[in-house]
Amino acid sequence: MTTLSYEVFPPNSTVGINHLNQVLTSLRDLSPDFISVTCNSNTKQLAHETVRVADYVENDCQVPAMAHLPAWYLSREDVDRILEQLRVCHVDRVLVLRGDERPKLEKKTDFAHASDLIAYIKQNYPDFQITGACYPEKHPESLSMVDEIQHLKLKVESGCDQIITQLFLDNHSYYRFRELCAIGGIDVPIIAGIMPVVNERQANRILRTSAVTVPEKFKDILAKYHDHPQALKQAGITYAIDQIVDLVTNDVSGIHLYTMNHSDTARQVKQNIGSLFRVCC
Ligand code: FAD
Repeated sequence: MTTLSYEVFPPNSTVGINHLNQVLTSLRDLSPDFISVTCNSNTKQLAHETVRVADYVENDCQVPAMAHLPAWYLSREDVDRILEQLRVCHVDRVLVLRGDERPKLEKKTDFAHASDLIAYIKQNYPDFQITGACYPEKHPESLSMVDEIQHLKLKVESGCDQIITQLFLDNHSYYRFRELCAIGGIDVPIIAGIMPVVNERQANRILRTSAVTVPEKFKDILAKYHDHPQALKQAGITYAIDQIVDLVTNDVSGIHLYTMNHSDTARQVKQNIGSLFRVCC
C-alpha cells in the first residue's frame, strides 16, 4: 500500500507555535502514515524544537513522528542525548541528513556524511527506523549521476530502511532515478517528496535555489497566474495532485508532502486523491 505522509517545520515564535499546533491537529485528522519534523534552527539548541514538536505529533496527535537530524551540526554526545530524548517520547523514526552550510552554526567533526551518522545510529540504536534523503536530479555537489548513485548506495547500505526524495516537478525525473537505483542495487522504498506550490514567493524560491527541472506546464501556470494569488494556489495544488495521481498509478512507494505548515493544502490534496491510497498494488 502506498503511504501518505507530511513534513512540517518547527516555528521560531510563539505565534508560530500556536499555528503549528492547529496545523498538526488538522493533519492528524487526515490519518497520515507519519509526520516528519525538520531541524533547521540556527541556534545551539539545534534539535530542541524538533524533539518537542515530534513529541507533540507522537503523543498528542497520536501520529507516528519522524525527527530530522543534520549530521554536520551534531556530535556523538548530541546524537546520544537526542535519541534518548526521542526514546522517552516513544519516537523511533529519524530522517538522517548531512545538513547544509550555516554561517551561524559551528560544524561538529564526528560525522562528515549522512552515511556516517546513519551507520552510527544503526549500530548503537538498532530500535530506530532510519530514513535517508535522495535527489532524483542529483545533489548539486555530486559530480555525476553515477557519483550520486554510488554514494546513495553506500548510504542505504549503512542502514537506511527507506529514502525520501528532494522535491521534483517532473515525474520523469523520479522514474529515471528509480530505474537507476534498481540498476545500482538500491532496493529500499523510494518515497516521493512533493511540494504543492501555493504562492509566487515559494515558486520563485524553488526556481532560484533548487536544482530541479521546471516543466513548461509549470512555467505557464506561473506566467498566467502570478498576479492572482488564489488562482495560483489552486493551480499549484492541482499540479501537485496531477503528479501524485501519476506517481501512485505507477506504484510509487509513498508520497511525502512538503506542507510548508499549510494544512489546508494537505487537506485539499487528500480530499482529491484519498481513495487512491486504499487501492492495493
Ligand atoms: P549526503 O548523503 O552526505 O550527501 C551530500 C553530498 O555528498 C552528495 O553530493 C553526495 O554524493 C556526497 N557524498 C555522500 N557520501 C560521500 C562520501 N562517502 N564521499 C564523498 N562524497 C559523498 N537539511 C537540514 O539542515 N535540516 C533538515 O531538516 C533537512 N531535511 C531534508 C529533508 C529531505 C527529504 C531532503 C531531501 C533534504 C533535507 N535537508 C535538510 C537538506 C540536506 O541536509 C541537504 O540537501 C544536504 O546538502 C545533503 O544532505 P544528505 O543527507 O543528502 O547528504
